[in-house]
Amino acid sequence: MVKAKKFVVAKHFQNEPKATDLQLVEEELPALQTGEFLVQAEYLSVDPYMRPYVLKYPLGITMIGAQVGKIIESKNSQYPVGKRIVGYLGWRTHTIVNPQTCTEVDLISQKPMLLPDIGNLSPSLCLGVLGMPGNTAYFGLLEICKPKQGETLVVSGAAGAVGSHVGQIGKHVLGLTVIGIAGSDEKCKWLVEELGFDHAINYKTENVAVSLRKAAPTGIDCYFDNVGGDISSAVMYQMKPFGRAAVCGSISSYNADASSLPKATILQPVLVFNQLKMEGFIVSRWTDRWSEGIQKNLQWIREGKLHYRETVTKGFENMFDAFVGMLQGKNTGKAIIQV
Ligand code: NDP
Repeated sequence: MVKAKKFVVAKHFQNEPKATDLQLVEEELPALQTGEFLVQAEYLSVDPYMRPYVLKYPLGITMIGAQVGKIIESKNSQYPVGKRIVGYLGWRTHTIVNPQTCTEVDLISQKPMLLPDIGNLSPSLCLGVLGMPGNTAYFGLLEICKPKQGETLVVSGAAGAVGSHVGQIGKHVLGLTVIGIAGSDEKCKWLVEELGFDHAINYKTENVAVSLRKAAPTGIDCYFDNVGGDISSAVMYQMKPFGRAAVCGSISSYNADASSLPKATILQPVLVFNQLKMEGFIVSRWTDRWSEGIQKNLQWIREGKLHYRETVTKGFENMFDAFVGMLQGKNTGKAIIQV
């Protein structure tokens, strides 16, 4: 009899998540039925979307999220023992999966997938640079911003999983001038010295509007927005005519209640007079092109154009701390939990 540990949603988050909002429980798993397989989690992901998304679901569910796990028992020949899968199985150590009838495990549209062949790279990358965040960077930048040669790109949340990836595609694949905005000097140093960004702005110590004017005196063509709020208003007001903003996330307001959303400068005047285009997107728009994104990102890693960093927390029990730490900016690159 296998015992699974899982985090259950005991209370909906209000403002910053509290440890008591989730409960760590044990569950005895039944024997496998035909078509099922048993997955043991190796790496789990904590992502910003979990904070607002989980509010859609009833109390008592397993906390939502993706993991990479190994198949340790199987009654499904397409998913043999020893293979790894990536899937939205939630915050749990062991999961029985039936790919035909995903129930609680299928909270987010993607079905569990066998890991692509990534050679001797760490399987954890399939939660980051070779997974959902990597595809968010790839499709969001190329399909929404549609950058052209010689343009200037600004990325907020620049030292995180998606942002660090976007900036590197911009710089090393497309040859753009790239400016990152992030929350510490250490992160800014990493962006410029190791990832090759042209400039980085610490939004906690600098006046973003003033620093942007210095870094991009003739204005900004593309903005990849991970954070929203005042940082984004400052960027939008320095965009050139016909600039394009891809609205990927709005983490600056994820801990706010809908009734107390922070106020930011209105954008309509600059949208009208500079004829800007601002478009929100969710990466699942490109589900039918999923492996294209993974293969491109893999190619760029192998060509040395794309570097990645993971902030790894050890121990399943520490998932909540890793989650809140990520929301507070304690991660550089992708926040990962290693079981
Ligand atoms: P990150 O790895 O970037 O981690 C979150 C980061 O957000 C923190 O490290 C922190 O960095 C920053 N942050 C936290 N609070 C604030 C704040 N108030 N203002 C500015 N920055 C803040 O996460 P991801 O790369 O996984 O996600 C980045 C964004 O992309 C999120 O908004 C997420 O929701 C979105 N996203 C959207 C997808 C889509 O399909 N649209 C898919 C995947 C992600 P710092 O130290 O710099 O403050």
